[in-house]
Amino acid sequence: MCASTPALLGGPPICTSPLADRVTMGDAEKQAAMRVLDNDCLSAFLGAPGKFFLGGQEVRRFERWWENRYRFQSAITVNSWTTGLVACVGALRLEPGDEMICPPYTMSASAACALFYGVIPVFADISPHHFCLDPTAVEAAITSRTRAIMVVHLFGHPAPMDELLAIARKYNLRIIEDAAQAPGVLYKGSPVGALGDIGGFSLNFHKHIHTGEGGVIVTQNELLAERCRLIRNHGENASETREDDDLSHIVGSNYRLTELQAAIGSEQVKRLDGHLNHRARLAAHLRRRLRGIPGLTPQEAPSDAGSTHANYIYPIRYDARITGLSRSLFVRAVNAEFPAPNSVESTPLTEGYVRPLYLNKIYRQRTFIGDFPFNLQTPPRPYEKGLCPITERLYQDELLLTPLVREPLTEDIVNFLADAIEKTLNYSHRIQEKFGKAPTTIFNPADAANISEGAS
Ligand SMILES: *Cc1c(COP(=O)(O)O)cnc(C)c1O
Repeated sequence: MCASTPALLGGPPICTSPLADRVTMGDAEKQAAMRVLDNDCLSAFLGAPGKFFLGGQEVRRFERWWENRYRFQSAITVNSWTTGLVACVGALRLEPGDEMICPPYTMSASAACALFYGVIPVFADISPHHFCLDPTAVEAAITSRTRAIMVVHLFGHPAPMDELLAIARKYNLRIIEDAAQAPGVLYKGSPVGALGDIGGFSLNFHKHIHTGEGGVIVTQNELLAERCRLIRNHGENASETREDDDLSHIVGSNYRLTELQAAIGSEQVKRLDGHLNHRARLAAHLRRRLRGIPGLTPQEAPSDAGSTHANYIYPIRYDARITGLSRSLFVRAVNAEFPAPNSVESTPLTEGYVRPLYLNKIYRQRTFIGDFPFNLQTPPRPYEKGLCPITERLYQDELLLTPLVREPLTEDIVNFLADAIEKTLNYSHRIQEKFGKAPTTIFNPADAANISEGAS
């Protein structure tokens, strides 16, 4: 029990020294980068048929690592997972007016990738336990135009793949896995990413391992892999040389990763298991500390045998009716027990995650290129409040997130967080009384990033 007064009410904060920042690059990465610079070949890709259509040695080596480590048939690196998602939609040959079912509670690109091929995102609600698509909601969203499901392993928890794959088989749908937040995660013993038709991982700076920007597409289907390689590298130049009808007529773009990034990536991947173990340990510790606190529901580890969690960020559900303290004030009070954060990764608590995607203007007003592709949907299915009630409740009222399960933080910091939470709840009525009259806005990770930018 913490007897001292909460920092928000003028007492001493629990943690006074700044939280250690992530240090992501070590000597191995620096040497790898120097090797590339010494070779003076920062990218070997040529957008024409021939030896360099698949890039240089670093890119190819990095791809072989993903294939060997997780037994993916093919890995195709790309310059971001956002472009990787677009390539997946293109490789599946989805067409204008087709519908793709996806969750509304995810990074915007999980849904927006569809639009580039004229495919219409249709949102289905998620489970309040694993925060991934709810198979029942997916099945209810299927129409005669549905062609694909975008499965997101949110926060690093694997989605219920058996159920989703059964639905895909029943209705002849393709599955794309957005495993951006779940590299190395197992679902019932098998690595996520290529359990469906195609999927992949993000390598942006904020992810478990990174190349600054970058991504990797993975699949067990060689035809889809080959289409991705064409889409990645100006396929219109190369596809006419392909005899196979499935591979000609592909217009590509430039989604190529550089040699420098690939060389760094080949060292980064060696750290992945260590990160995952570290995060799992801290998440388990936090769960033990928070379990049984009235009004808080920390996320449980995946219940299926052989399933793991990447703990990208750690979700906690909050019930203000039980604590007597609004979620926003709770977040403010807990954060006040720590030094002012200088990054999203050092902000102890945020709330809400992202606004349900269908409430964003492009969906509410049904606009992309003019009203294309939304004009192809008959009858139109409006994007409006109330569409996915569980997501809306999590966004508005229930969801808390903490990034403090990350390296190089330790159990001590997790204990500070749990102490700060207990202290805040002991004083919930005093805090609500003192600050409860002021209007509050949702404090989410994006706000945290903006605050820190403004401050630096
Ligand atoms: C990070 C992320 C993306 C986008 O990845 P980038 O490499 O930043 O383009 C897509 N989906 C999810 C769920 C993500 O977390």
